[in-house]
Amino acid sequence: MKFGGTSVADIDRLNRVAARLIERAKAGDDVVVVVSAMGKVTDDLIGLAHQANPKPCKREMDMLLSTGEQVSIALLAMAIQKQGYEAVSFTGAQVGIITDSVYSKAKIVRIDAACVLEALIQKKIVIVAGFQGRTVDGQITTLGRGGSDTTAVALAAGIKADACEIYSDVDGVYSADPRIVPKAHKLDTVSYEEMLEMAASGAGVLSMRSVEFARNFDVVIHCRHSFKPADVPGTIVRGEDPSMEDAVVSAVTHDTNEAKITIRGVPDRPGIAASVFGTLGQNNVNVDMIIQNISDAGLTDISFTAPEDDITSVTSALEICLKEIGARTWNIDRDIAKVSIIGAGMKSHPGITAKMFKALAEEGINLDLISTSPIRVSCIIAADQAETAVRVLHTAFGLDQE
Ligand code: ADP
Ligand code: ASP
Ligand code: MG
Repeated sequence: MKFGGTSVADIDRLNRVAARLIERAKAGDDVVVVVSAMGKVTDDLIGLAHQANPKPCKREMDMLLSTGEQVSIALLAMAIQKQGYEAVSFTGAQVGIITDSVYSKAKIVRIDAACVLEALIQKKIVIVAGFQGRTVDGQITTLGRGGSDTTAVALAAGIKADACEIYSDVDGVYSADPRIVPKAHKLDTVSYEEMLEMAASGAGVLSMRSVEFARNFDVVIHCRHSFKPADVPGTIVRGEDPSMEDAVVSAVTHDTNEAKITIRGVPDRPGIAASVFGTLGQNNVNVDMIIQNISDAGLTDISFTAPEDDITSVTSALEICLKEIGARTWNIDRDIAKVSIIGAGMKSHPGITAKMFKALAEEGINLDLISTSPIRVSCIIAADQAETAVRVLHTAFGLDQE
């Protein structure tokens, strides 16, 4: 069971989570729980770091951010013990969550988890800090924003749990972010493929890495509401099976945390794109969309998008590599948003892209970059039009719930 930041934001909520865990343990389940930092603690720590140093080093950043989860695991253990049940908390390093050494977005390479199983035998509720691990040589790492979901799914796979339940302030995965589309409806089941596309395009309800893990290790995820009764069903995320209904469009997502980088006057010859994107890759920048324009007099323009969090790495990578290849100028536009439509049924339905463009055009929304996958279409638009775009598309594809 994994509880996110809002579910453990204060002692009252921690107590309610504790009661829920004890109820499950008393019903006979072995309970392992992963928790995030309380409320907005991670954001606050990031704020503090930038006050200390506008360009904080990533190792120290991970050292700092991992403390958020360490606070909530200890407090949750205390709350459970206060209610008369045994509990023990562990950091990621203690449970043997071994990661690579890419600070701030480390990938889990293996989980040992012997101490988790040991504590379960002693009938304790086991609490594990989300979002963190350690390298083979003992350095503390974090898994990227929203990384507690990944801890939960990886741990579920590692200990071969019967179920993996992710609790948050929504009762499941919706056809759009319910905070901006009041008419969004809850989806009963979502396939890994659709959920991957949704998570990758901004549906913050599950982190993308956690869905990748779930798909690779066949972990069925149940997304549920932290404080609704135990019999209220959430959304099941699992492998596709023939009984699943293939909606043409099942969800509309948006992401306002990307930036668009445009490089102008790049020499148009083989090897240039490899050099630019190779350097970005070496700097661990997750490049998303890429567009290269038709060349003019041997020069071309390249635009791409990347997470805003990666901008410092983008800047240092481009400064070096553009000097070498001799590009004219480059700039960063942060005022963009990506809106996407996702649906497994898209594979067999032509005309979906045109319908999307028409719906956006009717609202006077201009499209900047476009990219597609077999089950997704994404457009980059102006950031201030994102919410309108999501609502318009939700209506256009018949997803509104009256
Ligand atoms: P936690 O802190 O528990 O990890 P998050 O804030 O990361 O929770 O995720 C839950 C939030 O995800 C919801 O409050 C909701 O606003 C947002 N969200 C975005 N897209 C969706 C979606 N398609 N379905 C459900 N929730 C979504
Ligand atoms: N506390 C971390 C974050 O805010 C991890 C998580 O909540 O999943 O990103
Ligand atoms: Mg989250």
